[in-house]
Amino acid sequence: MDGNLTPNDLSHVVDADKAHIWHHLIQHKPFETKDPNVIVEGKGMRVWNQAGKEHIDGVSGGVWTVNVGYGRESIAKAVYDQLVKINFFAGSAGSVPGALFAEKLIAKMPGLSRVYYCNSGSEANEKAFKMIRQIAHKRYGGTKHKILYRDRDYHGTTISCLSAGGQDERGAQYGPYTPGFVRVPHCLEYRAADQGAPTENYGEWAADQIEQVILREGPDTVGGLCLEPVTAGGGVITPPQGYWDRVQEICRKYDILLHIDEVVCGVGRTGTWFGYQQYGVQPDLVTMAKGVASGYAAIACLVTTEEVFAMFKDNADDPLNYFRDISTFGGCTAGPAAAIENLRIIEDEDLLGNCTRMGEYMLGKLGELQDKHAVIGQVRGKGLFLGAELVSDRDTRTPAPEKMVQAVVADCMGQGVIIGATNRSVPGYNNTLCFSPALIAKKDDLDQIVDAVDGALTRVFG
Ligand code: PMP
Repeated sequence: MDGNLTPNDLSHVVDADKAHIWHHLIQHKPFETKDPNVIVEGKGMRVWNQAGKEHIDGVSGGVWTVNVGYGRESIAKAVYDQLVKINFFAGSAGSVPGALFAEKLIAKMPGLSRVYYCNSGSEANEKAFKMIRQIAHKRYGGTKHKILYRDRDYHGTTISCLSAGGQDERGAQYGPYTPGFVRVPHCLEYRAADQGAPTENYGEWAADQIEQVILREGPDTVGGLCLEPVTAGGGVITPPQGYWDRVQEICRKYDILLHIDEVVCGVGRTGTWFGYQQYGVQPDLVTMAKGVASGYAAIACLVTTEEVFAMFKDNADDPLNYFRDISTFGGCTAGPAAAIENLRIIEDEDLLGNCTRMGEYMLGKLGELQDKHAVIGQVRGKGLFLGAELVSDRDTRTPAPEKMVQAVVADCMGQGVIIGATNRSVPGYNNTLCFSPALIAKKDDLDQIVDAVDGALTRVFG
């Protein structure tokens, strides 16, 4: 714990927080009688709150972000060194770390070539939508402007991102929405029967549902398809066999740009640099944010193929023929400086290899829990990106009540173990426990997390 802060300082911080902070994602009434959790310090996979209580962090900063763990002095130093040279310059100018990080990033993304900097996952996705729309105008007179998104996927919090969001509770009460976004079905094989899907070749079937929507809407009206490689907050949905091959085929058949949202999977989370690389797919646009600098600085990127870029380069005399977009803080140099060091750490410490090995280990441990607790209907995931779907009845797969799922999360918190759960996102399906420990996790860390869940499940479900 930070020795510089006295208990009096910390109680002042809590009072200031209660008086002035509008926290993300939470109902504030309970704070009238209890204190918010203020995280004061972190090291490796552990964080300490205002009471000095240690927690092991099973979700990398709450929202699958701190891939290389807390307290990385080399990242802090890289950012410091950069900030004292030059912190910021925006507009059309470049920066040293911006160029160097882009070069390193592109080396990990065969087939892609251009990096557009901004600040958040939502912003990167907005920019991808704008690019797809502008291409529709440039190439097709504006007709091929619709963007498909999937049930249970999430792409961010702005109005257009919510319009492209498959988690209705997140979007509720924020309409009217941006027109031109069209929903396609999800690909959660565990719930295939609920969709009336055949028992064989679910992956192809689920992808074919996308084609059905394209045919219904008219292929000449659909310009983009935006998907998470593994759906995160919608329930840690790993794609079924055959899904991505078919998705790619459909996009090529109808000349639809494939935009993959790597905001969660990007930079190592699944054990490859990007989630899509697990499935041999070749996107046209990729967005990323959280893991790019592991939360040491705000940075997000939209990465495209040279083909997409080239569409904005030609006809230089046309005043509209460039991407007329800016992100003020896309000119911050702290982001790419942190991202370069973040990448170096992942490479030097073989964190992709560790992620794959530890992911398999944890999947096995969760499988053992499933044998013990009937409430676990399915465990799934890729790398250190895992979920356990809780059901009241395994035969009917009835989702466990959200309150009880949250009680498991709270019980773990009481034990000093932070886990997540799908929360107020997909109505009726907020029943999946989520795990995304830092890529540095060791077996002991994962045992501690799984043991806590074991105890919590017994206490909550008996
Ligand atoms: N896409 C996905 C898949 C996400 O999970 C999130 C955030 N949880 C976003 C986009 C939005 O990112 P941000 O909160 O940085 O705007």
